[in-house]
Order: sequence, then structure tokens, then C-alpha cells
Amino acid sequence: MSSRRKFLHSAVVSSAAVLTGEKLFAGSLYTGNPVLNDPIVISTWDFGKAANATAWEILNKGGRALNAVEAGVMVPEADESNQSVGYGGLPDRDGKVTLDACIMDENYNCGSVMCLEHIVHPISVARMVMEKTPHIILAGDGALQFALANGFTKQNLLTPKSEHDWKEWLKTAKYEPVKNIENQLYDKKEGAMPGGPKNHDTIGMLAMDKAGNFSGACTTSGMAYKIHGRVGDSPIIGAGLYVDNEVGGATATGVGEEVIRIVGAHLIVELMRQGLSPEAACKEGVERIIKRNPKKAKEVQVGFLALNKKGEFGAYCLQKGFTYAVRNNREEKIYTAPSIY
Ligand code: ASP
Repeated sequence: MSSRRKFLHSAVVSSAAVLTGEKLFAGSLYTGNPVLNDPIVISTWDFGKAANATAWEILNKGGRALNAVEAGVMVPEADESNQSVGYGGLPDRDGKVTLDACIMDENYNCGSVMCLEHIVHPISVARMVMEKTPHIILAGDGALQFALANGFTKQNLLTPKSEHDWKEWLKTAKYEPVKNIENQLYDKKEGAMPGGPKNHDTIGMLAMDKAGNFSGACTTSGMAYKIHGRVGDSPIIGAGLYVDNEVGGATATGVGEEVIRIVGAHLIVELMRQGLSPEAACKEGVERIIKRNPKKAKEVQVGFLALNKKGEFGAYCLQKGFTYAVRNNREEKIYTAPSIY
């Protein structure tokens, strides 16, 4: 190419880039009107289906998304067969069941509890932190004291099954998050999957109500056999959950340390604000985890799930097998998220 042609060529390329950049900036900031009267709820994993059904009863009657997500995630919290959320959750390495949860509404109000013991519904304590205190996060003994002072009752959350599994684990006491590549809670073929029974999961739920308002909730017992006091991404606003009523919401499941490093849920919401679809935004989040440490990313599971204000949803994960449940006027369905590996 002659130098004049080279100059013209690069001038055209750069002005196109400027135009595209301007267009991207001016045209795709995603803050239009929400869809009205077409509520939807989505949540992580197959067990999200039962949780969605409860949330749907509220959404379908015109109830608030905040009430729907709280009631929805209370279903797996109370389900003792679910060993990764609430009552029946697998304990830490000292045999203590410690729960993490957070909730966020359409006005950036949020509440969170971390490392909370003895309370079946940490999500409701998180909501109370949001609504009745000037704070956002309560942790450990303080969170328990607050819950007990506000009418929650103390319960033993360690079921015989989880105690038995913990005692088996103690024989080797090897801390190794199992890649949760298939949902063993539902097929109940414990130990049948590569790597043995899975030892971590979370319910993250996002809902848009008839008024077009968003809320989200996220609750987990975290990584099984973790060091006592460990907190994952799930109760961290911006990591395990984020909701922005102008854009939509996102939530995460999988190894929380990887999600916290990239502030996953907030990243995904901001990518949707810039015009990415929920699935493309989730994919970008997963790719950022790989970029940080490709070797580590091959060894762990992380899944992201997102919903935008048009009611579009999508997900992406590292390893095959992350499922999510959707409920709206047209479907009640479990999807398998696309994966990198
Ligand atoms: N994100 C949760 C945690 O790190 C676990 C999971 O969802 O698998 O505590």
C-alpha cells in the first residue's frame, strides 16, 4: 500500500471505530422502559424450579418481586435434602453449618448476612437487616443475636445425613471443592458422578414483577468443609448478586473466591447496560475468570445467570452441567447453560 493509501485506509478505519464507539455509547446504554405485566422469575440449578413455583404465585397475583424472591428461596432453605442451601447444608470443617445470604430490591436497597448459624431462613434475616437497620451486612454472632432479637428461633441445622457426610470427610479431611458438573441433588445417585457427591451450590434468584421492577436473592451454605468463618460470594452485593432496576439483575453460583475477584454479578449487570445480551454478558464474566488463571478455571465450576428488563434471560458457566429454572407466563422450564469447557 502506498503511504497515501495507507493514511487513507487508517483514517477510514479509525473514523469507523469512532463512529462505532459513539454508536455503542449513545445507542446501547440499556435504560429503556421495562416490560409491564409480563412477570418472570429465574433461578440457579434444577432445585430452582420448586423455588420459582412459590415465587410465581406472588408474581402472578401482581405481588412485588422482592416478596417473590424471598419466598422463593425459602423453599430450598427449608429443604433438608438440599445439602448446599439452608437447613441440611453441609457444614464447615468443624461441623458447623454456616449460612450466607443477601437480598436486593429495585431501589438499590440491600441486606446481607454472613456466616450465620442456627437460623433456617438467612434470607429473611438479610431482608430484616435491609429494612430495619441502617446497615447492609451483619456477620457471625452479631447476625445471630440480631436474628434472635427479632423473633427468629434457634435450630440445629446439621441433619443426620450431613453429619454423616462430614464424618466421612473427616477420615481424609482433604479440602477439595468438587466440580458440580451435574445435579446430583435431583437424581440422588450420590457418588455416581465423577468426583463423588458435589459439595457446593447456591440458589440465586432474579425476578421482575408486573410493574417491571426487579429484585434478587441469593442464599447458600457455601463450600462444604470450608475453614470456619469463610464467606463466599453469595452474600456479597455485587459478587453473588446485583440488581439495577434500569438494567436487570445477575447472580452467581460456583467457587465464590473466583466470583469475588471479578465482582461477577455487578460486572454482568454493567455489561448488559452497555448492550450485551444476558448470555453474552455472562459469557464475558466467565471468560474474565479464565483470563485471570486459565489453569484454575479448568478445575472449578462457576455459573452466572442474568435477566434484563426486556425479560430476556441467559446464563454461562465454566464446566458443563450448570442448569437454571425459568418461570413466566409462557414456560416453566429447566435450561442447561452453555459452557466454555
Ligand atoms: N458460591 C457459593 C460459595 O462460594 C457456592 C456455590 O454456589 O457453589 O459459597
